[in-house]
Amino acid sequence: MMAAVGAVAAVVIAAPVAVAAPGDGSSAGPRTGEPSAAAELARPNFKMPFLCGQTWVGSNWDGHSPGHSIDWNHYAADGSTDDFGRRVFSSAGGKVIASYYSTDTGYGNTVVIGHGNGWQTRYAHLKSRGVSRGDTVKQGQRIGRVGASSAKYELSPHLHYEQIHDGSVVVSVIQGVRWSDFMKRSQTSRNCG
Ligand SMILES: [Zn+2]
Repeated sequence: MMAAVGAVAAVVIAAPVAVAAPGDGSSAGPRTGEPSAAAELARPNFKMPFLCGQTWVGSNWDGHSPGHSIDWNHYAADGSTDDFGRRVFSSAGGKVIASYYSTDTGYGNTVVIGHGNGWQTRYAHLKSRGVSRGDTVKQGQRIGRVGASSAKYELSPHLHYEQIHDGSVVVSVIQGVRWSDFMKRSQTSRNCG
């Protein structure tokens, strides 16, 4: 539908990305999205942010902002999307760093969870948030519902998902699958508690 196309275009400009200087010789950080080897060892065993057994289609499309973020959609048997209101679960255990409605970015209702060692996950455009700042969450705990919220853009429902290390969005690793740029694929949640 046309709304989806508009959503894609809008998200591109929703959140400017800091660009590392080219040719800085670094093999880690925001330019490539690959965390350092030490950070990689400390990365939690992130699961999909959805109910155990559900299959979703993710895309970390070229031009998505911030880079390496994944947009998730769920499809009904007839091929239409039926994302709205579906439950969102924490990818790993941790502590809620932020739960807010963003008025200065396109994120809308947003939850950020800290997992230690500089690792965070972000969940955006939520219909509703089920946790508050300071809450402790377990892997697989419900933290909100999929929506289309944004202060700036008219979106079609989807979950915007980021894995963050030391403040930079990095290439996600979910249930052992490395989401190198740029992929569109289905994955089934094993966030089974
Ligand atoms: Zn997105």
